Amino acid sequence: MIVLVVNCGSSSIKYQLYEMPEKKVMAKGLAEKVGESGSMLTHRRGDEKFELTQNIPNHKVGIELILSCLTSPEMGVLSNVKEISAVGHRVVHGGESYSDAMRIDQDVMTCIEECSDLAPLHNPPNLIGINECRAALPGVPMVAVFDTAFHQTLPRAAYLYPLPYEAYEKYRIRKYGFHGTSHAYITHRAAAILGKPVDQVNLVTCHLGNGCSMAAVRGGKSVDTTMGFTPLAGLMMGTRCGDIDPAIIPYLLSKPEYANKVAEIDKMMNKKSGLLGISGVSNDMRDLGDDAAKSGPDSRSKLAIDMFCYRVKHYVGAYMAILGRVDAICFMGGIGENGADVRAECLSNMENFGVLVDTEKNKTLRGKEGDISTDGSKIKILVIPTDEEGFIAEETYNLCK
Ligand code: ADP
Repeated sequence: MIVLVVNCGSSSIKYQLYEMPEKKVMAKGLAEKVGESGSMLTHRRGDEKFELTQNIPNHKVGIELILSCLTSPEMGVLSNVKEISAVGHRVVHGGESYSDAMRIDQDVMTCIEECSDLAPLHNPPNLIGINECRAALPGVPMVAVFDTAFHQTLPRAAYLYPLPYEAYEKYRIRKYGFHGTSHAYITHRAAAILGKPVDQVNLVTCHLGNGCSMAAVRGGKSVDTTMGFTPLAGLMMGTRCGDIDPAIIPYLLSKPEYANKVAEIDKMMNKKSGLLGISGVSNDMRDLGDDAAKSGPDSRSKLAIDMFCYRVKHYVGAYMAILGRVDAICFMGGIGENGADVRAECLSNMENFGVLVDTEKNKTLRGKEGDISTDGSKIKILVIPTDEEGFIAEETYNLCK
């Protein structure tokens, strides 16, 4: 069975074609700057890479171009688009309606639309992607895999904010959590590595990429997570601030420079903060590592790295306390999978809690699966490359096979 996975952003379309159930990647690619000048498509088949610089004025043209690449005699892997049996779509927000992947019907479409208010930058392009795929592949089942779904098991005490209860009832203000596909995939993978049924594993999962989030997983289910009502909450990220005192916002608004500039403050918190905001150098952890090595321990790059690790450690402690028993702490995402120094720092001085990093194993493990804890560590420390697209393909296959 051939499954196409589509992740449609406001100006990009990521895709990956799978042969299931083997989860073999047949082809993949990315259409960038859709609707903007300089649009292009990068298509990959095995080790071959094809770059097409051409006008992609909208998502409809983008999807058609992707399907024509998949079936082209020079670049393709299919003889006809009819070989595609199902399409899995990444959808950012499913609100409180969905705790699992769903076959897309009118009800699901309506829900995604209703949640656009909660995720105005993400749900509308997700909907466009679904509609364009439906038009291009009539009759092919479509599945929505929601970023929020895995966190729908949070207990009320964890997902409510201590605002007046009406804020929840009237405006749906609560913690939703994001990166759910990544935390769900890692939970399944960690259970397999630990040799335990999924419903018996307790984990602290740390997705550290450009966007960062952590989850506390009890019995295979998310019971708390760092992102909140939006993906701005929780950890310090590449350009996002994460948790700050909410009173900072009205305080800034009271200053002449920021009077009535809500959009600017929003941009500051989302695009100009985090690693970039503190270092003034880059949002990229590799650049900060290089700059800190060059500029020394008093540099702002070093400070940004220290703050990043401090905040991860803060939540590791919090989630260990919430879970009581922890089988493993898991690292994934670009920084989690590759950043040995960051991993070591996040878990430093935790011997008393049964967390011991094996320095050598940690140093040598980059970008692949492994255990970096010492033999004496009570809690395993796992590095697991995340595979959100593969997880979406699996969910789609399971619903459509
Ligand atoms: P996204 O959230 O956009 O998918 P990624 O998961 O690819 O991002 O993570 C990007 C981050 O991973 C960047 O900060 C990058 O510097 C970091 N990263 C990648 N490789 C390394 C490395 N070898 N050491 C430290 N950080 C790394």
